[in-house]
Amino acid sequence: MAKVSINLATGSLQKEDIIVGIDLGTTNSLVAFIDPDNTPKVINDTGKGVLVPSVVHFGAGGEIAVGNEAKNYLVTDPQNTIFSVKRLLGRSYHDIENYQDFFSYKVIDDDTESLVKIKVGDKFYTPIELSSLILKELKSRAEHALKTPVNRAVITVPAYFNDSQRQATRDAGKLAGLDVLRIVNEPTAASLAYGIGLNPDETKTIAVYDLGGGTFDVSILQIQNGIFEVLSTNGDTFLGGDDFDRAIADYWVEKNQIDKAELVKNRELAQQLRLKAEEAKKAFAYQSLVNEKIGDIWCTIDRNTFNELILSKVQQTIDCCRNALKDAGLTIKDIDEVVMVGGSTRTALVKKMVADFFEREVHDDLNPDEVVALGAAIQADILAGNRRDILLLDVTPLSLGIETMGGLMDVIIPRNSKVPTKAGRQYTTSVDGQANMKIAVYQGERDLVKENRKLAEFDLKGIPAMPAGLPKVDINFLLNADGILKIQAMELRSGVKQEVEVTPTYGITDDQVEQMLMDSITHAKDDVAQRMLIEARTEGEQMVYTVERFMQKNSEYLTVAEIGDTMKLVNALKAVLVGGDKDTIHKHIDELNEFTRPFAERLMDHAVSSAMKGKNISG
Ligand code: ADP
Ligand code: MG
Repeated sequence: MAKVSINLATGSLQKEDIIVGIDLGTTNSLVAFIDPDNTPKVINDTGKGVLVPSVVHFGAGGEIAVGNEAKNYLVTDPQNTIFSVKRLLGRSYHDIENYQDFFSYKVIDDDTESLVKIKVGDKFYTPIELSSLILKELKSRAEHALKTPVNRAVITVPAYFNDSQRQATRDAGKLAGLDVLRIVNEPTAASLAYGIGLNPDETKTIAVYDLGGGTFDVSILQIQNGIFEVLSTNGDTFLGGDDFDRAIADYWVEKNQIDKAELVKNRELAQQLRLKAEEAKKAFAYQSLVNEKIGDIWCTIDRNTFNELILSKVQQTIDCCRNALKDAGLTIKDIDEVVMVGGSTRTALVKKMVADFFEREVHDDLNPDEVVALGAAIQADILAGNRRDILLLDVTPLSLGIETMGGLMDVIIPRNSKVPTKAGRQYTTSVDGQANMKIAVYQGERDLVKENRKLAEFDLKGIPAMPAGLPKVDINFLLNADGILKIQAMELRSGVKQEVEVTPTYGITDDQVEQMLMDSITHAKDDVAQRMLIEARTEGEQMVYTVERFMQKNSEYLTVAEIGDTMKLVNALKAVLVGGDKDTIHKHIDELNEFTRPFAERLMDHAVSSAMKGKNISG
C-alpha cells in the first residue's frame, strides 16, 4: 500500500513512491502522473514543454542529447541522430529489410533473425539502449518537476506490438532505472483518459483512431468487467502527419518552380520548407490562410487547398477503419464510442471524416498528443491500489519464463499479468541433429536464470534429426485461476510433445517476492549489461559455427584467398568472444558478416540460411 508523506518542496501531502505513466512515441514521448487532487496531469518541466521529441543525438565527444536539442541535428548530422527508434524495438533484420532506406543512420544489415543494432561511430547500440535514453530523459524531467524520485512506471505500446516488442519496451524501462509495472496498450490508455472502461459494470465497444507523426493505427476494443480486449487493429506504419507536411512542402516547391534536383542537394532549404509546412498545418487550427516567405520563396496556402492535398491520405485511414470493423465482425452501429488520439487528429478534416464515417461525435476534448500518457497515469494509479472503486484483478507477482542460450531468462508471462493467462513462444535448436531440448522453467525478474527461482526442468526428447534452426519448438505457458502453471513443449514438424505442471506460488513468501523485486531493481543496470554481453557472445558463437560449417561444405566454390581471409576473421572473432566487450564482439561479427555475405548470396545454401534463423535454446 502507498504511504503518505509530505513533499518538502511543495509542502503538500503526497503518496510515497509515485508511479508515472509514459507514452513512448515514435515521434514524441511524454510522461504524466496523478496529482494530489487526483487528476491526471502531464509533466511540464519548466521551460522545456511537455513533448519530448523521440530523437537522440551522439556528439563527437561522446555527449548525448535527447529531445528538442537532438532534433536540431537531424539536418546537420543525420548519421549520428537517431529518430523513430520505436520502429526498430524488438525487430529483427528480416522484419525491417523492406524499409532500411527510411533511416538516415546506420542500421546494421545482417541477414538473420537477430535483433537489429544501430551503429554510431564505432559503437553498436540496440534499440533498447536508445529507447532507454529517451525514458531516462523523461524520468529525470519528472523527478525535476515533481521534486521526488521516480522509480516506477507504466509504459504504453501500440496494440499491434508483439511479444518481442513488448519485452524490448520493458527492458528499455529497466535499463532507464524504472520498474515497469505494466505495459499497457495505447488505445486502452486513451480510453481510460476519457473515463471509458473505469466502470466495471459497463460493457462497451469502442474505436480508437490514432494518427501520429509517422504512423497510423485504429483499434477496436471491447470492454467488459473492466477488461479491455482488442478485437482488431488495422493501420499503416508509414502514414501520418509527416505526410501532410510533405504534401504542403511539395506544393510550395511546385508553385515556386523550384528545381527538384536542386532541392535534393540543398538539404537545408528542404528542411526549412518542411518545418514551415508543419507550422502552416498547425496554424490551420485557427486561421484559414498562411502567407509567409523563406527568402524570396512564397509559402502561401489556404485551408481548402491543404484539405485537397491531404484528402487521399485521410481517405486511406478511413479505409483502415472499415477493415478494422470488418475484421472484428462488427458494423458502425456496434461502436459505442470513438476516441481520437495523436497530434495529427487536430487537423479539422481528419476529425470530420472520422466522425462522418462512424456517424457519431468523436471524443476530442483532451489534448490528442497527451491522452495516452494521461491514461497511462490512470492505469498506474489503479495498479498502486489508489482507486478503491476499481477491483484489482489477480495478477502474477513474478515473471515466468525459461532459460535460453548463455543462461539468460526469457520471460514468457511477465509479472503483473492478469490471471488466468496464456502465452507462448517458438524456439529452435542450435546444433545439427539435436534430438533433445532441455526446458528449464524459472520465476523472477533477473536477467540471468541463476539469480531466479527454478520451478521445473524437463527434456523434450525424440526430436527427429534436422539441421540446426529447422525444428520449430512451441513452448506454451498456461496459468490458470488457481495459480497452476501448465508448461507445454511441442516440436511442430514431428508433433513430439511434453507437458508438466507446477504451482509457482508454492513455497515462496510475500517477503521473498518483495526481496526478489527489490534485487531486480538494484541490479537492473548490471543485469542488462550482462544480458547484452551474453547475447553478443551467443550471436558470435552462432556465427562462428555457421561460417565454419559453411566453409567445410562449400570449400570447392571458394578461392584459397577467400578461405584464408575468412578464417582470419573467424579467428579474430573467436579471440574476442572470451574476453571482449559487446561493442568489440559486434564489430567482429559485423566484419565477418560483411565479408561472407557475397559467398552466401553466391551459393544460396539453404541449410546455412535456415541455421541462421531463430532463437536457440542451449543444447
Ligand atoms: P507519435 O504518437 O507518433 O509520437 P504524436 O501523437 O505526438 O506522434 O503526433 C505528432 C504529429 O502531430 C506531428 O506530425 C505533428 O505535426 C502533428 N501535430 C501536432 N500539432 C498539430 C496541429 N495543431 N495540427 C495538425 N497536426 C499537428
Ligand atoms: Mg502516439
